[in-house]
Amino acid sequence: MRPEALLHPTPAGLFCPIGRFHVDPVRPVERALITHGHSDHARAGHAKVLATRQTLDIMRLRYGDDFCGEEQAAAFGEEIDIDGVRVSFHPAGHVLGSAQIAIEKDGLRIVVSGDYKRGVDPTCAPFDPVACDVFITEATFGLPVFHHPDPKAEIDKLLTSLKQFPERSHLIGAYALGKAQRVIRLIRDCGYQEPIYIHGALAKLCDYYVGQGIDLGDIRPATIEKSSPDAFKGAVIVGPPSAFQDRWARRFNEPLIAFASGWMMVRQRAKQGGVELPLVISDHCDWPELLSTIAEIGPSEVWVTHGREEALVRWCELKNIPARPLHLVGYEDEGD
Ligand SMILES: [Zn+2]
Repeated sequence: MRPEALLHPTPAGLFCPIGRFHVDPVRPVERALITHGHSDHARAGHAKVLATRQTLDIMRLRYGDDFCGEEQAAAFGEEIDIDGVRVSFHPAGHVLGSAQIAIEKDGLRIVVSGDYKRGVDPTCAPFDPVACDVFITEATFGLPVFHHPDPKAEIDKLLTSLKQFPERSHLIGAYALGKAQRVIRLIRDCGYQEPIYIHGALAKLCDYYVGQGIDLGDIRPATIEKSSPDAFKGAVIVGPPSAFQDRWARRFNEPLIAFASGWMMVRQRAKQGGVELPLVISDHCDWPELLSTIAEIGPSEVWVTHGREEALVRWCELKNIPARPLHLVGYEDEGD
């Protein structure tokens, strides 16, 4: 069987015609297999959804009880038959509940990795390499210039800044699912014991992570009284990046704006966003991780999606691994 007969790109997303299901569809479909809870991958309105328990829970938290018609939870490693196609979910190391999806028929196995990373992250299960014929990889940071530093070294910059500017409120922009909880956990792992204040938009997901056994320490709502602008002097406040454009951020005392994202490697991006303290912390592979993952898995073919597809395709070809870009549209990761 040609791999395209098992899975191929369509305007709605990757589609398996034999099992009649889509993976991370960008529009409502009959049956969706979802890799993880970020909004560009997990959308509401599908008739049936198959995902990990945590991804289903996260979808419910974000979209409400009627986020889909019918849900089915897949445990990591469990083999599920869909019309003669064998599918299984494996940890992707991206955010809590995130999974790669292996799709298998007549000895041909395709792995859709979704978004993934290889760096240490105590807030989710680590990436599990799965042998396969076709490996579908993201390429968000698929250029040789992208090297993500040690995230703890980035947090050290924050802790140094707190000592240097003890009067200023340190506001950290971090995406609501995954990045925010990882940043809080990293701050704890670097020895910071004080309360960490969170924007209301992060509350439900932080509570969910804590309920799943991820210890975030003393987290409190960052509700500010107009009468006490000094209340958050020298405090750490975490909020979604969108909150930093509105009046919410200006209520804090001499706010120092930090932003935790892989894109903070690009100085221009930090400058444009008015970010005083860029923290290069990413939930995606950097260039060396992409290459080492492909080398480790050793697939006979690589398909590249969302991001800088061409450079990675070119690298595969130079290594004599057949590769193609998928040109899927609609994936703008909210959790970079
Ligand atoms: Zn993602």
